[in-house]
Amino acid sequence: MRFDVLIIGAGPAGLTAGLYVSRAGWRAGCLERLSPGGQAALTSRVENYPGLEEPVSGFELCRRMEAQARQFGLELVQDEAESVLPGEGGLVVKTAGGSFGAGAVIVASGARPRELGVPGERELRGKGVSYCATCDGPFFRDQAVAVIGGGDSALEEAVFLARLCRRVYVVHRRDEFRAVKVLVERALNEKRILPVTSSTVTRIVGTETVEAVEVRNVQTGKVDRLEVAGVFLYVGLLPNSEFLAGQVVRDDAGYVITDDEMLTSTPAVFAAGDVRKKSLRQISTAVGDGAIAAMSAVRHLQSLQAGHV
Ligand code: NAP
Repeated sequence: MRFDVLIIGAGPAGLTAGLYVSRAGWRAGCLERLSPGGQAALTSRVENYPGLEEPVSGFELCRRMEAQARQFGLELVQDEAESVLPGEGGLVVKTAGGSFGAGAVIVASGARPRELGVPGERELRGKGVSYCATCDGPFFRDQAVAVIGGGDSALEEAVFLARLCRRVYVVHRRDEFRAVKVLVERALNEKRILPVTSSTVTRIVGTETVEAVEVRNVQTGKVDRLEVAGVFLYVGLLPNSEFLAGQVVRDDAGYVITDDEMLTSTPAVFAAGDVRKKSLRQISTAVGDGAIAAMSAVRHLQSLQAGHV
């Protein structure tokens, strides 16, 4: 199959790019290995995306973005990109299911939760260890859980869990949270949230399911055991860019480097959203990247048509 522009990833950046490319009258396809929405769809509450007088769930916001892009003709394909290489008529994207031709590619493959790397994490994944409070929080109704991390995700999802769970420990390695002030204040005002600061997780304990987390105070060295049924890990993100290794330039952490027009080191390959090296990862900045990448891709196609490239 061939598209004018093939977008890799259907999160806010990819869906916005799809909307702009289709609306400009070009054939746009969007590969998504899971379900549309990406990490944003797993966010319990979005309140800082402009235009929302009332907060909405990330799932609902992404559902609307998908529906809007489809209305303009974006075609979603469930498949996973494995490489982006020069080929006949432009670029060829090899996928798990086959291959696609495209005049331009927009990489919007996002980022995934980072693992903490402590004993018990992998063994108990899906048995109490989770990276998604909106997906798994309801399993822990009226029980105690721990959230690990001190960023926006950790505090936002801790507040969501506090509505369901009896007690929510927020374990953070420093004595100060990284999250924005409004989220820190909201979390600290929740009676069911108990901050456990200056502490690192040394082990997640359990046989069949999670029974506790062991934490060590970095100032005193004291080890404590928090009896919890669930552990939610929010210790940062890793870019989904492995499939581009050797094909486009990335930084040491794996984020794709682009110029202001979202162009990568490879002609006709653009990048947008969380996978891109940038200073602020938000839905609003992903959407902005997606729009710029789309119009840059369209300009590239127009130059090809005019014989300028
Ligand atoms: P993040 O901002 O990178 O925060 C990760 C947190 O995990 C930090 O507090 C960090 O501690 C901690 N951490 C990292 N490695 C650790 C380790 N090995 N052991 C213990 N703790 C560790 O990640 P995020 O909260 O997932 O957010 C990702 C991006 O999405 C950010 O740009 C964020 O602003 C954005 N986001 C925005 C919203 C919103 O605007 N509503 C909501 C969610 C996410 P230190 O602080 O000590 O480094």
